[in-house]
Parts: sequence; structure tokens; C-alpha cells
Amino acid sequence: MKITDLTKLKPKKLVVFDLDGTLALTKAVMDPEMADLMKQLLGRMRVAVIGGGKYGLFKEQLLGPLRGAPTALLKNLSLFPTTSTRFYRYDRGWKKVYAHELPKADRAKIKKAFYQVFDEVGYRQPEKIYGRLIEDRGTQVTWSALGQDVVKTLGKKGVGLKEEWKRKYTPMKLKIAKALAKKLPTLEVRAAGHTSVDVTKKGIDKAYGMKQIEKYLRAARKDIVFIGDAIFPGGNDYAIVKTGVDYIPVNGPEETKRAIQFLLQQAD
Ligand SMILES: [Mg+2]
Repeated sequence: MKITDLTKLKPKKLVVFDLDGTLALTKAVMDPEMADLMKQLLGRMRVAVIGGGKYGLFKEQLLGPLRGAPTALLKNLSLFPTTSTRFYRYDRGWKKVYAHELPKADRAKIKKAFYQVFDEVGYRQPEKIYGRLIEDRGTQVTWSALGQDVVKTLGKKGVGLKEEWKRKYTPMKLKIAKALAKKLPTLEVRAAGHTSVDVTKKGIDKAYGMKQIEKYLRAARKDIVFIGDAIFPGGNDYAIVKTGVDYIPVNGPEETKRAIQFLLQQAD
């Protein structure tokens, strides 16, 4: 159920967050205030994070700012990178629990299909690409229009460039995703994030992630709340709606902070 009035939310035991645009600005690290709120939350309940980004990005964006947090807190945190095709938990260091890899042949086929589609729809690459354009993340292949490292390289300016690209090219991105899905009928194609398209095994979305969370963290659906910035048709959090879990839509990290503050008050 959609929660717009936080006071209507029943107490929860597990909070599931989206990462990009929810806990941090796209591909940027969590700010110190968010890191502090996250530590407080981890002291009171379990937390899971599902994002389209790879594990390396989770380490930078999420774990970096939590450096030095006590083990007892980290044990309450579960990470589901690349749309939950991987799961990591803390047990004397971060350990991989599973990784649902795509076969190598599929990954090569996906890369080729991306380039074919760019030609077909007449998409022209930007002049400057920062880092890899199409990245093989093992369990997921991702095209990032400005390159994987645009934020890492340019910082805030990179975030601005991504937002600008998103404003101008979202219809083109959706067109590319649609054409790609036609070419790859046995795989899942998602127009994710601001500037990217992800391809995974069929049926991988955040609803799948929620199922993994229920199974591996042995959590009942009624005890879970999801918080994300793209819970609308076409958004990469939208699959959550069909799971029936309670969810709080936010428009960015500042709103997420207010939701966490509410959860903390409620838990006290
Ligand atoms: Mg997001």
C-alpha cells in the first residue's frame, strides 16, 4: 500500500531502500547526515538496499560513509546490488551469499544488440564518454549514456550532466529500451536510473528483489516498508507495487531523511 501520510504507517521490522536518488544522489556517496541516520536506523531494525548499480558502487556510495560503524550495526544491513541479482551480508567482512550470473554468450549478445539499436534508432553518442559506455557487471549488462564514471570523474558537475541528459533524452532512452527488448526477448530490459538501460535475466526487477529479501532475510511482507524515488509507471522501483508491500515514495535523499526520522521516532 502506498503511504503518503507517514502517521498511517504500522511499525516495521525491516526497511528496504533504493540507493540512487533515494539514499544518495545518483552515483554519489551518501552525505554525512544520511550516514548518521542510517546508523541510528541500523541500531533499531534491519535494513536492506536494492539498487541497479554494481557491488563496487554500493561499497563507494553506501559502505564508505558507514566506515567505522560497529559490527552489530553492519550485521543488520543487507546489500542487493545489480537489482538483487547479487546478495552480500556482513559476517566478519562483507560476504557474497549468491550471484545469479548471466551466461557469457548472453552478455556478448547484449552488447552487440545495444550497438545495433543505437544505429537503428539513429542515436548519436555524446562527444565525451566518461569510463565504460556499456559495462558487463556479470549478472547485468548496463549502458550508461555518459559513461559509468561521469560522476566519479566530474563530481557534482557530473550529476548535473546526467540530469540534463535525462531531461533531453528520456524519450530516446525509452525508444532504445523498447527496440532492445524486441531484440532480446528472452532477457529483461529495463530503462533504469537517469541515463542507463539495464539488461538481466528475465523476471529480474525489484519485485524479484523483494522476494529474495523475504526468503533470505526471513521477513514477513507486513513487517517490511520500501522507500524509493522511482515508484511510478516506467520507474525502476515500480515493480514494488505489485508485491503488496507498504511503500513510501520520495523525491530524493532529503525526503528519505524525513522518512527515516519518522521511523526512528516510531521505533523509540
Ligand atoms: Mg532510484
